[in-house]
Amino acid sequence: MLACSRCNQTYPEAEPRWRCECGAYLLLQSDRMFSRDSLNHRPPTLWRYHEALGIERSESTVSLGEGFTPLIPDSLFGQPVLLKLDFLNPTGSFKDRGSAVMISKLKEWGVTEIVEDSSGNAGASVAAYARRAGMTARIFVPAYTSAGKTAQIRMYGANLVKVPGSREDTTQAALEAASRTFYASHNWSPWFVVGLKTLAYEICEQRNWQAPDWVVAPVGGGSLVLGLYLGFRDLLRTGFISRMPRIAAVQAAACAPVYHAWKQRLDDVPAVAKQESAAEGIVIARPVKGRSILEAIYDSEGVVLTVAEDEIWATARTLAEKGIYVEPTAAAAPAAVRQLAELGLAGPGSSVVVALTGMGLKATDKFIEHLGTDDGEAVQP
Ligand SMILES: *Cc1c(COP(=O)(O)O)cnc(C)c1O
Ligand SMILES: [Zn+2]
Repeated sequence: MLACSRCNQTYPEAEPRWRCECGAYLLLQSDRMFSRDSLNHRPPTLWRYHEALGIERSESTVSLGEGFTPLIPDSLFGQPVLLKLDFLNPTGSFKDRGSAVMISKLKEWGVTEIVEDSSGNAGASVAAYARRAGMTARIFVPAYTSAGKTAQIRMYGANLVKVPGSREDTTQAALEAASRTFYASHNWSPWFVVGLKTLAYEICEQRNWQAPDWVVAPVGGGSLVLGLYLGFRDLLRTGFISRMPRIAAVQAAACAPVYHAWKQRLDDVPAVAKQESAAEGIVIARPVKGRSILEAIYDSEGVVLTVAEDEIWATARTLAEKGIYVEPTAAAAPAAVRQLAELGLAGPGSSVVVALTGMGLKATDKFIEHLGTDDGEAVQP
């Protein structure tokens, strides 16, 4: 069943809804789980864990082969790490995990028309899966969104609406449109979070069911951090792993509401005034699921770290020089590995998994601006 995060109201999973009648967000409560022994012969996609994903009929499944991305050893700032290349999902970001499950559930409900708002990647991901499921999608994005992402959304055949002003203005515009169709919001949908639990399952399966010491992940709306935490909790409950990994959630210093709330040990995340950041995908002044994000961090004995704009760009370069091209938003988490090591939270013997969330090609326009207009060496005619 779906349970309200505030008022204890519950709803059946078969009922199309995206929030509680009281206005708060819902989370799936379920103890269905896959069995470890059945995994060996299954295809390398996130649907190998389908028993835990709450999709009732296999014909509802909308898939592009998402999940099971590489986990590769490397080192950052002298710290050994395992890089989870989750930008290698079908639309170029980890959001495909959430979209695949959310859109499958919407298909099961018989929804044919949806509205979503996004800083770009969720919009592209939802547009792709909606189209594959035969749904019509209207995607609202802030006017500042990278051209790579808006072109991608339009190519998938979605109706793109650019909203001037802030990320919050975009949500408002989408909500107004959603009063006439279904609001398939990655920030609200409990099913989107269910899809992100597969990242935790996968990291542990790829490490032979050894939980890592740390998982470092960016936090914006918080579906990723919450999905990781809930996924690890499933694995703990079933005894597949024996301890909870610590979560290091990373924000851009320019917009760090979760950091400020965590510093003050609050139980919800108040809005902050924010500045612009190259990490456009995590610039969220007030995450909807603030309560659950903080709970995930406290309960995992985690930390919240912030990184400056120059660290984000420098880390994008460092990764690119290793052959790994991620967008600036996805460079924030690896940038924070420096602090994790400097603060003594991780050391040479620690296992540190870093989630790399979005592909560099998404932000080509931002990289061109960063590099300057010089387009490399030209051959003289
Ligand atoms: C959406 C996004 C994030 C933030 O994920 P949340 O689940 O909203 O916290 C991080 N990196 C990239 C590339 C994203 O697209
Ligand atoms: Zn409620």
